[in-house]
Amino acid sequence: MTTELLGLQHTQLIELCLQAGVKPVHAEKILASVFRYNNRDLASIKELPLQLSAYLAEHVSILQPQCTAKQQSEDGTRKLLLKMNDGKEVETVLIQGSGRLTQCISTQVGCAVGCTFCLTATAGLTRNLTAAEMVAQVMAGQEISHRNVRNLVLMGMGEPLHNYDEVAQFVRIAADPKGMAFSPNRITLSTSGMVPAIYRMMEDKLPCNLAVSLNATTDEVRNRVIPINRKYPMAELMQAVNDYIKARGNKRVLIEYVMLAGVNDSIEDAKRLCDLLAGLGCTINLLPFNPYPGAVYESPSDVTVTAFRDVLVTAKIIAVVRESRGRDISAACGQLKTEVARRRQSAT
Ligand code: SF4
Repeated sequence: MTTELLGLQHTQLIELCLQAGVKPVHAEKILASVFRYNNRDLASIKELPLQLSAYLAEHVSILQPQCTAKQQSEDGTRKLLLKMNDGKEVETVLIQGSGRLTQCISTQVGCAVGCTFCLTATAGLTRNLTAAEMVAQVMAGQEISHRNVRNLVLMGMGEPLHNYDEVAQFVRIAADPKGMAFSPNRITLSTSGMVPAIYRMMEDKLPCNLAVSLNATTDEVRNRVIPINRKYPMAELMQAVNDYIKARGNKRVLIEYVMLAGVNDSIEDAKRLCDLLAGLGCTINLLPFNPYPGAVYESPSDVTVTAFRDVLVTAKIIAVVRESRGRDISAACGQLKTEVARRRQSAT
């Protein structure tokens, strides 16, 4: 049985070198070659001692998921469907912003949270992804973009904090300055509100930003939209956000708010949101719902979105409307995977 190299942190690479009987310093060469420059051919790393190369050839494997579908939007958004070794497929998305490329990473195959606006939720959870499978998504993104990915957001398929250990391992690998070298300020982990795991992130000082998918201003609505709210209601969640901000030296938390027509987009909602966020160091992203076939919600009108944002801005809350990217492709989370599965089924 071999060890999967892409799931190892620097300290574990050092252990590997010691087991091979060579100096720990060679771990840095592996970090630079594999993790920074996407080199999967270990034998080609000339600076490694022969003894280490032979050891790696025998004891280590490097994951290379197959890209089974690819889509490109008119706005530059690219979506990849990647097949892991067990045949399970996950999506990763590359989103072109003004001068910077952001990659959205999946952390699970499917998801158990059951948000009622989310296509991924309809299939339930199949399994957690490993840290190596998350690293492999970044490598696929870097390969297709010629190493241009600057920001990572853990907002793809899955609830990252339901897969805490592997996600934490991935974040540490991504933030290693000698390896993938993403600035911790450019890695954002988004949760639907797993309160105990937010405290764990705090204690572990996980090198990334926190985003919370709030999507409602009352427990009654949030229970319907994000069922996990019944376990961790809004008061507990907002307390955790407050504690996180304080513990991290007033580091801003991003609040995501998917706007659902007639559900959470009223002026009263906007005012309640102001009350919830008053005095907290939060930035809010307003995300008009991105409909998909069979969705039970609709997107609010532009007028409604603007009026909602204006209430927040007047209350001096930083609020940005994020237009859905890649509208001409299967942009909703889980949509490409669903469409490919449907096509395969109709072809048999
Ligand atoms: S929105 Fe995120 S947490 Fe909610 S069901 Fe979808 S993937 Fe899971």
